Amino acid sequence: MPMSNQGIGRILGHGSAGDAVASPSPARIGPNAVIQTGQALSALYGVGAARLIFESAGLGRHLEAPPTSMVDEHEPVALFAAIRAMLPPAEADRVLAEAGYRTAHYILDHRIPPLARKILPKLHPAIASRLLVSAIARHAWTFAGSGVFRGRVMDWTKPRVRLEIVGNPLATPGCPWHGAVFQRLFGTLCGSAATARHLECCASGQNRCVTELLCTGT
Ligand SMILES: [Zn+2]
Repeated sequence: MPMSNQGIGRILGHGSAGDAVASPSPARIGPNAVIQTGQALSALYGVGAARLIFESAGLGRHLEAPPTSMVDEHEPVALFAAIRAMLPPAEADRVLAEAGYRTAHYILDHRIPPLARKILPKLHPAIASRLLVSAIARHAWTFAGSGVFRGRVMDWTKPRVRLEIVGNPLATPGCPWHGAVFQRLFGTLCGSAATARHLECCASGQNRCVTELLCTGT
């Protein structure tokens, strides 16, 4: 997933917030897009329902033995589609948001360097958000797959984080999965009152997904 675990020096590294980073080929994506979705389904509807949905996506094997490395992006795409096909829209959004929330929780626990977890929340949100966008940009293919990610932060007094994925392969209407991932990460590290809006969406026929977050600090 997106972060190095080698210290805040990596977060303060050479990437810029405006970097566009493409996926390697064939496009792969972090396994938590699958693992945490299975966890969310099991928690909300039980293991039996999770198995039905995973099997309908052709991914039953991943419930028995969760993937331990990057997966083909077509796998979470198929899983998200199966969730939307088998559940009412509001319930599908709830599952995807819960999966995104759990994915962000995993990233915070296992991929954000402990020093960065400690320092970023103490910085002004305008600084912390720029550092986090820069770090995410360098590892974006792990959650953007074949999409092209760009991130930037506008304003210094009331920083607005604008995150864009052109050709987002995991787009579902309103992108509750991405929204939850970003809101949890930025809310925890850059301002406890981070709010997210999804301004443009590939699932609505646009060529990019755009999420904007407002980090207001504690
Ligand atoms: Zn979207």
